[in-house]
Parts: sequence; structure tokens; C-alpha cells
Amino acid sequence: MSNQTPVDVLVIGGGNAALCAALMAREAGCSVRLLESSPKNWRGGNSMHTRNLRCMHDEPQDVLVESYSEEEFWQDLLKVTGGQTNEEMARIAIRDSSSCRPWMKKHGVRFQPSLSGALHTARTNAFFMGGGKALINAYFRSAENLGIQIDYNATVFDIEVMDGVFKSATASHLQPDGSTTQETIYAKSCVLACGGFESNIGKLRDAWGQNEWGEWTADNFLIRGTRFNQGTMIDRLKEQGADIIGDPTQAHMVAIDARAPLYDGGICTRIDCVSLGVVVNKFAKRFYDEGEDFWPKRYAIWGRLVALQPGQIAYSITDAKAVGRFMPPVFEGTKANTLEELADLIGLDQNVFMQTMHEYNHACQIGTFNHTVLDDCHTEGIAPVKSHWAMPITQAPFYAYPVKPGITFTYLGLKTDKTAAVYFSDRPSPNLFAAGEIMAGNVLGKGYTAGVGMTIGTAYGRIAGKQAAQFVLSPMQPHLIDSGLAGAMALSPSLEDTLSEES
Ligand SMILES: Cc1cc2nc3c(=O)[nH]c(=O)nc-3n(C[C@H](O)[C@H](O)[C@H](O)COP(=O)(O)OP(=O)(O)OC[C@H]3O[C@@H](n4cnc5c(N)ncnc54)[C@H](O)[C@@H]3O)c2cc1C
Repeated sequence: MSNQTPVDVLVIGGGNAALCAALMAREAGCSVRLLESSPKNWRGGNSMHTRNLRCMHDEPQDVLVESYSEEEFWQDLLKVTGGQTNEEMARIAIRDSSSCRPWMKKHGVRFQPSLSGALHTARTNAFFMGGGKALINAYFRSAENLGIQIDYNATVFDIEVMDGVFKSATASHLQPDGSTTQETIYAKSCVLACGGFESNIGKLRDAWGQNEWGEWTADNFLIRGTRFNQGTMIDRLKEQGADIIGDPTQAHMVAIDARAPLYDGGICTRIDCVSLGVVVNKFAKRFYDEGEDFWPKRYAIWGRLVALQPGQIAYSITDAKAVGRFMPPVFEGTKANTLEELADLIGLDQNVFMQTMHEYNHACQIGTFNHTVLDDCHTEGIAPVKSHWAMPITQAPFYAYPVKPGITFTYLGLKTDKTAAVYFSDRPSPNLFAAGEIMAGNVLGKGYTAGVGMTIGTAYGRIAGKQAAQFVLSPMQPHLIDSGLAGAMALSPSLEDTLSEES
């Protein structure tokens, strides 16, 4: 089956980046069709799990307090990525984050101030009222109102590209009776916004391989978000000669409760008491500085740290002093009146555990505990050190939370530029664009700072939609399709034009 009348813009994916692209292309006057792999009730990919967007602002803006300048945002990004970022693309996303909210509001998204006890983000992050699910619902509602054709249960498994020019995509439609039909969809331009490959355990297994203990590291990963981001389009594009960027093992990975479900556990499975206690591996040994920096700056390194431990499991240990100082996890911790009992209940070697705890407790230099600053409570004479918030774990009851690596999203993806164009042999496609996780690796070579996933997806989703429309509406379009990549260079879309009409 194939569509008779080609649509102007085809959008593949149904999360934040896809919807931003679809809405922008439709607003520019194009016909738009959006294909979402999931059924309607699971629509929205990882975006439905989000809570906030990191925003630059020079003065207080509705829900954001004080200011967060372009330079400070950029320095934060530079620090977490260790310089593995495209500065031009990053700064475009940063600047867009200061002006995108009126557009988001126009499409029904509402904001609220940061909750106290969340990640101390009142200055830097605008929170979505109702969370990412409400944002996604608002965008879908707006898309329906604007006449965007939306197909659920529609998984694109193939794409035809000739000389860097998008021609068609082939989707499998899951029918109510469980059967599938196939459809080849022709479009004048296309936006890929179908996530990374984080939902695909087989691919994660290949990327991470076996560790020094002979374990397949990824077998113990949990996927924090959607099951639908299988990375199929990254593979197909690679086969068609698209330029790929990123390290397949780089990802946003958080330490989450080991009892979380394999998919869609979401934010409530995160364990946020690491900086208030110690973390030991399955051999009851500490392995990293739990008080290195503020938790919001460090929480995203703990998934990888746990992934590198034997069995990919660890235990966050606290005592009564930590209660009330962190967001309570969704599952209750194991509780005991003595540390010996706690070791037995979680199945750790009691002698080694007690030795670890004894050494830690004696190494704590008593200072003035203050969880809101880098305080002077630290350890001396043990490795690894605990740099801040080191308090002896001595006050019953004691708690243990088992943690595993929770993968949020992968960074391997398509090379793009500031116009969101997909690259083939180092040249931009005239009519194939990418946005969101599938190209986030251009900005995030490694590391993460809270809320930047939605910053990248919103900025490049909007850019991709507008560029796709600009291509369709260009009087040169038929010629450009014929002349492939050479034509793309001639079009040389101006980003200033792309963003100029936004407010
Ligand atoms: C638990 C959790 C919490 C998070 N919290 C935040 C936060 O607060 N702030 C923040 O900035 N970031 C957060 N993130 C990261 C954020 O979700 C992503 O950066 C962002 O949502 C990516 O948007 P996207 O549109 O690229 O991908 P997604 O939202 O994942 O959308 C991809 C879409 O593509 C569809 N799809 C996949 N393959 C195909 C195919 N072959 N054919 C058709 N459709 C396909 C999927 O069904 C899905 O709808 C969080 C992630 C998780 C998992």
C-alpha cells in the first residue's frame, strides 16, 4: 500500500521533538502527517515522563526566579560534557530556551514553579504543570485542532534516501486484531524525531559487551522510559550513508531502584539519598565519592558508576538522620535496627559491610552539616573520600535501597547542523531533518545537566519543522529534489530566517 497524494511534511515519532516539528510545519502552512509507534495511550515516548525544561533568562520570568544567563548555561553544559559538544548548536538551543515558552503556552503547555525538595532547580528549570504527560496531551490536542494527520501503532521500519534526498518511508500499521499492514509514504520532506536506541536491550548489549567478570553489563539495565525507542531509524539511516555521531555506550543513566519495572518506571524510581549516606557494591565496598558535588549536578553519573560494578547492583545506605531530607522513593527501603541486621537483610557479607561502615564512620570529620551548600563534613584517611555531607551512619533505624543502572536515553545518533539537516558524507540533506534524542549527541557528547533534553528537543524540533516547511514552500523545491545534495548547498537555509518569526 502507498499514499497516493504525497504529504508535505512527514514526521516520524510522537514525543516532544516530533510534535514541536509537526506544529511548526503546520503553522507554516504545510500538510503534515505524524507516525507514532505506540498505541494512543502510550503516546509521547520519553517526553511523557519529563517534568521540566532548562531555560536561559536574563531576569525573573514567570515561574523562573533570578537569572540564568546564556554564558552560565553554556558553562554548565561545557562542564558536564567535558567539551564534547558543538558550541554553535548548543548556543542555538540555549538561546531558543529563552523564547520558546510563549509558543509552548500558545499550544496549551502550562508551567509551574519548581517544587521544593526537587533538584533545587527554581532558577534554571521551568516545570510543566501536570508533567510531560500534560505537555504531550496539549501538543497532540493542538495538532489535531490544526488538522495534522496522526497515526498511532505506526512503526516506520524503512526509509528511502537517494543522494541525500528523502523519498519515502515505509511503516507497519498494527491493526486491532493484531495483524499488520504495510504502507509506503511519500513526502516532500521528513523530520526524524524517533528517539535513541535506549529501549533496545539487544543493541545496548552489543554496545556495552562483557565486563571483566564475564557479565553482559546491559542485561541488568532498566529502561526508565518508553519501550518504543528501538533505534531502527538510526540503523536504516546508517545503512543509507548518513553520518553517525556519538559513542554507543554514552547515555544519560541514573541509579534507580532495582525493583523498578523494565520499562516506563519514570522519575519516581530514582533514589536520591546517595549524598546523604554511603553506597556499597555487592561485595559491601564503597566505590565512589558520594558527596562530590550537589546531587543535581551529580545524579546522572551514578547509573554509569553502578553499571561498572560487579552484578551492576549497589546499595544506598542511610540512617535516621537522612529521613525527610530527600524525595521519598516509590518503594520502601529495607529497614533495620542495627547495621549487622541490615547487611543480613540485603544479603551482603556482614563482616565486610561492618568493616566498610566502621572505616567510614571513623573517617568522618565532624563539621557543620548543611545539605544546601558544599559543607565541611568530609572524610579523611579513606578511599574513596566523601567530600561533603559526611556524617557517621550511627542512628537507628538504618535503611538500604538497592540500585541498578536506569538508562534514560542514548547519545549515539545522526550528525546534524544548526538547521537540523541530516548529514550524508559531510553534506546536509535538503529535505531530511532530525530533532530530539536522535541528534542530541551533537550537543551532548557525554554527561547531562537536568532539563537539557527538552531544551534540545524543543529547539531543534521547532527548527526542523520550520526548515522542513521552508523546503516544501521553496519555489526551488522540485529542482532541489532533482539535484540532491548539490541543491541543498544552493538553498543554504538561513537560521535567522528560521527563528525570526517566533516569539
Ligand atoms: C523518566 C525520564 C524523565 C525525564 N525527565 C526529563 C526532564 O524533566 N527534563 C528533560 O529535559 N528531559 C527529561 N528526560 C529526557 C527526555 O525525555 C528526552 O530528552 C526527550 O523527551 C526526548 O524527546 P524526543 O521527542 O526526542 O524523544 P521521545 O519523547 O522518546 O519520542 C520518541 C518518539 O518516537 C516514537 N518512535 C520510536 N521509533 C519509532 C519508529 N520507528 N516509528 C515511529 N515512531 C517511533 C516513540 O514511540 C516516541 O513517541 C527524561 C527522560 C526519562 C526517561
